[in-house]
Amino acid sequence: MSVLEKLTSADAIALEDRYGAHNYHPLPVVLSRGEGVYVWDVEGKQYYDFLSAYSAVNQGHCHPKIVGAMIAQAQTLTLTSRAFYNDKLGVYEEYITRYFGFDKVLPMNTGAEAVETALKICRKWAYEKKGIAENEAQIIVCEGNFHGRTTTIISFSNDENARKNFGPYTAGFIKIPYDDIEALEKAITSSKNIAGFLVEPIQGEAGVYVPAEDYLAKAKALCEANDVLFIADEVQTGVARTGSLLAVCGNCTCDNRCEKQSGYVTPDILILGKAISGGAYPVSAVLANDAIMNVIKPGQHGSTFGGNPVAAAVAMAALDVVTEEHLAQNARKLGRIFRAELAKYIETSNIVTLVRGKGLLNAIVINDTEDSETAWNICMKLAENGLLAKPTHGNIIRFAPPLVMNEEQLRDCISIIINTLKAFES
Ligand SMILES: *Cc1c(COP(=O)(O)O)cnc(C)c1O
Repeated sequence: MSVLEKLTSADAIALEDRYGAHNYHPLPVVLSRGEGVYVWDVEGKQYYDFLSAYSAVNQGHCHPKIVGAMIAQAQTLTLTSRAFYNDKLGVYEEYITRYFGFDKVLPMNTGAEAVETALKICRKWAYEKKGIAENEAQIIVCEGNFHGRTTTIISFSNDENARKNFGPYTAGFIKIPYDDIEALEKAITSSKNIAGFLVEPIQGEAGVYVPAEDYLAKAKALCEANDVLFIADEVQTGVARTGSLLAVCGNCTCDNRCEKQSGYVTPDILILGKAISGGAYPVSAVLANDAIMNVIKPGQHGSTFGGNPVAAAVAMAALDVVTEEHLAQNARKLGRIFRAELAKYIETSNIVTLVRGKGLLNAIVINDTEDSETAWNICMKLAENGLLAKPTHGNIIRFAPPLVMNEEQLRDCISIIINTLKAFES
């Protein structure tokens, strides 16, 4: 195809179908531009983005401050590798550790890499600090988890689609039910070889499962009592998405990770990704204090692109935007309106049974079997009506718009969603 011809949606879909591996099943919408809460397809149709690239675009599409920082750095220095120092990494490391309140950061690129990094740090800590015998360390994880796609991570997934025929699997993980403090207590005290507990503060991919209010605090206390590292995967929930800077901040709405409010839980290892770059560039990070992070010595872990100058510049700009534009407060305020309006509608609806979530990470449960096409068909109709969302698991639809949305836009979106759902009532 000539580059001068204008690509239609059908052309673009045909190209991906013909030349790309079929590892995704996208909605048939071909986007070519984004700004703030909006994206446009190649035919020029405008949509509200209600997925935000799985919460990577919390700051809105093509935020000028983030794009500006990226362009400036890309024109100056892009990559040195960690074989040499660069003049951006240290500045960024100071910035992000102060921002989230940890001694040190280990910079990576994708969420899965950051999870892998956290698991490696946890194991090394277990052998060198806790005194577990080599190769005996166990890490507790939760059923329904989503932590990424590497061989080790899918080893402890219970999504058969993500796992089947990718074995043999990595050993050393114990799976327990999510939001079940008794199960955690049983597992954590079952052996002297427990090194860590890896958990999502809200399970995003599984369908936005919000645990009991005191679950994380109790889990952290159990970890502390048993010398086990509490590892929070905030790749999706972090960076203001749930109405506080981190989901482990509990109900605090300040711009910082401040530890002042009750309910706050300090993870021993914090994993971030997605929105720390505002969706402009792959940036992930693992944060921990010295007693844990210092188990990693030169040559023992790394990444060619991890901590590159563009990533550093982009992440600082993206985190600046979160503070300057009070995105946590906005997410909290709009999230309350969203759930209240949807709950009102659900009272009279036979197509939706439930709305749940925190801040602007929400989901509705469709009144149909898990293997039905209803959620997909609703998302197709939502797209037709100018709003993009995607089913997570079967009959659950996740709603996660950029956090730069204003109330008028949100109310417009709520009308689109409710009017679309009404068309599916029987
Ligand atoms: C998206 C996600 C990951 C993986 O991030 P990638 O950048 O896709 O590798 C890990 N954990 C959680 C909770 C996520 O939502």
